[in-house]
Amino acid sequence: MTYRPDAIRSITLSQIPLPLSVPISDAKVFTGRQKPMTEVAMLFAEIETAQGRSGIGFSYSKRAGGPAQYAHAKEVAEAALGEDPNDIGKLYTKLLWAGASVGRSGLATQALAAIDIALYDLKAKRADLPLAKLLGSHRDSVRTYNTSGGFLNASLAEVKDRASQSLEEGIGGIKIKVGLPDTAEDIRRVTAVREHIGVAPLMVDANQQWDRATALRMGRAFDDLDLVWIEEPLDAYDVEGHARLTRTLDTPIATGEMLSSVAEHRSLIDARACDILQPDAPRVGGITQFMRLLALADEAALDIAPHFAMEIHLHLAACYPRETWVEHFDWLDPLFNERLETRDGRMIVPDRPGLGISLSDQARTWTTETVTIG
Ligand SMILES: [Mg+2]
Repeated sequence: MTYRPDAIRSITLSQIPLPLSVPISDAKVFTGRQKPMTEVAMLFAEIETAQGRSGIGFSYSKRAGGPAQYAHAKEVAEAALGEDPNDIGKLYTKLLWAGASVGRSGLATQALAAIDIALYDLKAKRADLPLAKLLGSHRDSVRTYNTSGGFLNASLAEVKDRASQSLEEGIGGIKIKVGLPDTAEDIRRVTAVREHIGVAPLMVDANQQWDRATALRMGRAFDDLDLVWIEEPLDAYDVEGHARLTRTLDTPIATGEMLSSVAEHRSLIDARACDILQPDAPRVGGITQFMRLLALADEAALDIAPHFAMEIHLHLAACYPRETWVEHFDWLDPLFNERLETRDGRMIVPDRPGLGISLSDQARTWTTETVTIG
């Protein structure tokens, strides 16, 4: 059978603000840099082709930037019409250059990410394969840890309850936020959770709010608590500071979620500035860019633990040669008809074709803007 090129007939973009049940605070709220988070601004792209195929992808932003991502995607999406959706490399480059005046990182590429991810979903569905299988997976499940129960707006009692609940649900690890103004309180909370969960994997996340001296002191205080990692101890762009912590502390250092291009991640990799890289596919521009990043990280013998968006990252993490972690967040659950399964500390790659997600009626109800290009 000879190959018959398909053509992109339309791209529907939707802006969907996802409300959170309680306002969320991490260390950035306590340093006064951000307000508690009340919603996540989701950008969805749904692609239809001349041969009747479809794909769905999403990107997101927190606190600000959602309408701008939507506006940028709306402006450049037309460049994809009529193209073969299988030519994802070509399409990414075309969309990138259509809006390159505002940069090849950050908001501009985050807007493209929704389309890039939808193209991969479409291709995997065409092949009748889960996305991980299309890309070439190493495993059918990935270790998973809970984050949503460990924010700083939750009391220690609540954090402990949520940790127990997560472990009972088959989520293997627990991450809790640190970076309170009172560092002794951070130590008290982390020590109490360690005692509460016993030997279960435990991570902490300072969301970039320590200075170098505090990060070193806190890292030393945590070194005998057997943490899986200390996340974002410093400003995301302090490569030298992270490199020094990575060399000095016994506990692995994790960072990278705030970076929005392969080039920015390369500065961390080249400087050996972390043990665990935490890329985020929607933030770096989608799966095309994320897979380039995985190749670089593997060459540098780094571990990875992708940030947020488990619905996408589960597939991508399954394709990394080394064992990885995905972050279990149930926040996006109301947007989708499907649920991801966790068992024995691992999240199971779904056997549905593509990403294995479809938008729920609730997501349609929450949609504030939508446009079909084409
Ligand atoms: Mg984090």
